Amino acid sequence: MASTANPFAISLSSNPTSLRKTNNSSDSFLRVQSPNSVSLRSSFVSPSSIELNLNRRVSSASSVSRVRSRICASSAPVMESAAKTDSNAPTIVDVDLGNRSYPIYIGSGLLDQPHLLQKHVHGKRVLVVTNSTVAPLYLDKVVEALTKGNPNVSVESVILPDGEKYKDMDTLEKVFDKAIESRLDRRCTFVALGGGVIGDLCGYAAASFLRGVNFIQIPTTVMSQVDSSVGGKTGINHRLGKNLIGAFYQPQCVLIDTDTLNTLPDRELGSGLAEVIKYGLIRDAEFFEWQEKNMEALMARDPSALTYAIKRSCENKAEVVSLDEKEGGLRATLNLGHTFGHAIETSFGYGQWLHGEAVAVGMVMAVDMSHRLGWIDDSIVKRVHNILQRAKLPTTPPEMMTVEMFKSVMAVDKKVADGLLRLILLKGPLGNCVFTGDYDRKALDETLRAFVKS
Ligand code: NAD
Repeated sequence: MASTANPFAISLSSNPTSLRKTNNSSDSFLRVQSPNSVSLRSSFVSPSSIELNLNRRVSSASSVSRVRSRICASSAPVMESAAKTDSNAPTIVDVDLGNRSYPIYIGSGLLDQPHLLQKHVHGKRVLVVTNSTVAPLYLDKVVEALTKGNPNVSVESVILPDGEKYKDMDTLEKVFDKAIESRLDRRCTFVALGGGVIGDLCGYAAASFLRGVNFIQIPTTVMSQVDSSVGGKTGINHRLGKNLIGAFYQPQCVLIDTDTLNTLPDRELGSGLAEVIKYGLIRDAEFFEWQEKNMEALMARDPSALTYAIKRSCENKAEVVSLDEKEGGLRATLNLGHTFGHAIETSFGYGQWLHGEAVAVGMVMAVDMSHRLGWIDDSIVKRVHNILQRAKLPTTPPEMMTVEMFKSVMAVDKKVADGLLRLILLKGPLGNCVFTGDYDRKALDETLRAFVKS
């Protein structure tokens, strides 16, 4: 079934990666074949260090040519990053999007450094959007960081109920109610303080209030620190599907204070690690190998290991977003396992399974399908199972799921184009994936039947 002419196919392989604007020479490999088709191949650069430089912009209008990266990994930079963090200087990863570029600050004790936040606040009015779990833990600290030595700024807050099931229109209204009652104007700043639910909802509120106000992300879960706070996808759920209503809207900055993870429940930690594992599988084989060596350290919340995993994840995400902000194609590869996972979340009821748990099972299903298609070998299947189990993540869907449930939710997935469901599947050695609608339908049916009873 496979065909190289498929207009909906993207293949991505990577690390160690170097991105260059394409030509036909052997070390140039980002090839835009059609608006819907990109192929990215990698070339090895150096075995011992990782560096992503998103600052070297060129004047070309092509976002493809803006990113230069030299990526490679070992555990040595972990200690370097940690040392940096301990001295309170944040590690900074830049998201390079022209005049919408912004920094991601990563480190310990960053909420005690008011200047980091204050320089990104516009105007004199701030609305902090948070929830009933995070507010008692960090709201005072954030208000202090926003106002210390800055008496002209006044801060309002809205404390929403906690949970994925509240990532909806009714809860969004509460943010607008507060903003309008407080007479906030276009010069105000919205600050999202919490996990991915708060970040997505607050970002969408910021994108639509008065047609767009300034926005800052302070993510406090692993999931939001490694993924959802970066890249500008904002939105809410509809009862018929996850994240179906939303906007691309970039923040002014993302401030990741790794100390906030000290209060995160273990299950949430594991859920976030699913997205970390994802980066390794789709584009960063060395990072995956690092995770295989360091999973126990991550689960034990070793600060150096967590800081490294967050930094490396943000670098991977920043690089993809810089190349394809609005998901013309390449960015979709970040959704490995999400199509299967969303079906679980939607069918099972939002919040029963954590997002990362559903994504973990989705990745296992995508890997199973890739294997049935003959695109990857047995060893990758085993390694994926193994690492997910070490992160205490599930590898089979809930028992109540049926083939029909998967199919009905997958039919309204955002990656359906002209009636064709495109999936992110692994293909080739570890760290390589494709985004394609060009696969044997039998393999999808076989995978679904292999994972559910009816
Ligand atoms: P979440 O926001 O529900 O947070 C998980 C739980 O942890 C919540 O109960 C929250 O109150 C609590 N919490 C948050 N920070 C805490 C802390 N420091 N200490 C103690 N408890 C804390 O879930 P999540 O996993 O962070 O995010 C999942 C959401 O992110 C989903 O809605 C998903 O669709 C979205 N998402 C979006 C993107 C994107 O690109 N926008 C990417 C991935 C996921």
